[in-house]
Amino acid sequence: MRRAVRDIPAYPFTPIDVPIKLDQNENPADFPAELKARAAEKLLALPWNRYPDLHAETLRAAVARYEGWAEAGVVVTPGSNVLIKLLTELAGIGQTVVTSDPTFSVYTLEAQMLGAELVQVPLCDDFSLDVPATQAALDAHTPGLLYVTQPHAPTAHSDSPQAVRALVQYADARGWVTVIDEAYYQYAGRDYRDLVRECPNALSLRTFSKAWGLAGVRAGYLLASPQLAAQVQKLVSAFNLNFLTQAVLETALEHPEYMERSVREAVAERERVLAALSTHPTCQALPSQTNFFLLRTPDAEGAYRHLLARGIVVRRQDKLRGLQGCLRVAIGTPPENDALIAAVRELR
Ligand SMILES: *Cc1c(COP(=O)(O)O)cnc(C)c1O
Repeated sequence: MRRAVRDIPAYPFTPIDVPIKLDQNENPADFPAELKARAAEKLLALPWNRYPDLHAETLRAAVARYEGWAEAGVVVTPGSNVLIKLLTELAGIGQTVVTSDPTFSVYTLEAQMLGAELVQVPLCDDFSLDVPATQAALDAHTPGLLYVTQPHAPTAHSDSPQAVRALVQYADARGWVTVIDEAYYQYAGRDYRDLVRECPNALSLRTFSKAWGLAGVRAGYLLASPQLAAQVQKLVSAFNLNFLTQAVLETALEHPEYMERSVREAVAERERVLAALSTHPTCQALPSQTNFFLLRTPDAEGAYRHLLARGIVVRRQDKLRGLQGCLRVAIGTPPENDALIAAVRELR
């Protein structure tokens, strides 16, 4: 077995069974029941003994229509985490992966397991990208893969479009495959398709796991130039996407209004929770452009245990660079958020 694999700990997640789950940034609303029924009808009509589309052609066409994108520039896989692995295979192995510190742990795990040189550039104190330091890191290494997460995870911060544009154009011009991970873009009300159109080495990574409320279905996709997408598509195994997934996603894409409504509700709830916690004497709820926020506490361990005792599970992030005392809290349903606000108010 390869040392790089043996040396890496398993993905750090322990499921905890409590009533209020705010630890995975999921959509608190289930996929609407009438859409589940429509997806089930599609499934019942399909011959299950046959292989699905080779490369999910029908679904890719539906994604392309929804996004206003060329079909040949769309790649769909079971979760965007699979695309992160494939992109590391495409541009990271034997080369360099550049990302921020802190960052989304899947980027660094895949880079380490697949044997890419990993370079992490610290975020500025206000959580913005350090553009000059990242440009210097690109200059100091052979090109490979650059991650720009917008809005950023786990900080929930959005950078200025000028900063993102400057960094992505710089990387693109020097041949770096640049991933703009837009897992939470709906909650920020802004996206970077225009920039991806201008930059042939850049792509947008998107998921059905958050705003679309389909984390259990496992699906994500990228938008890129047809040339770049064709290279990624080579790395996708044949028949990778089963038609159960395809039927559900086609149904979702036919009814995007349910997703848009749930995003409006999450944004309103986020602002309500942040306002309610803004006068807390010891904890600081940090601003957010996503469906989660960081809660900076004087004692992360104690705060985590207190919330758990109230039936609420969140994610500790206090060991990450610059996130001392921080818990990551997803926005839940209004009653769940009320319970969270009450439990945080008990903290001193
Ligand atoms: C949740 C999340 C994803 C989505 O991953 P899936 O495999 O599609 O569920 C991607 N990137 C970031 C930064 C995320 O937080």
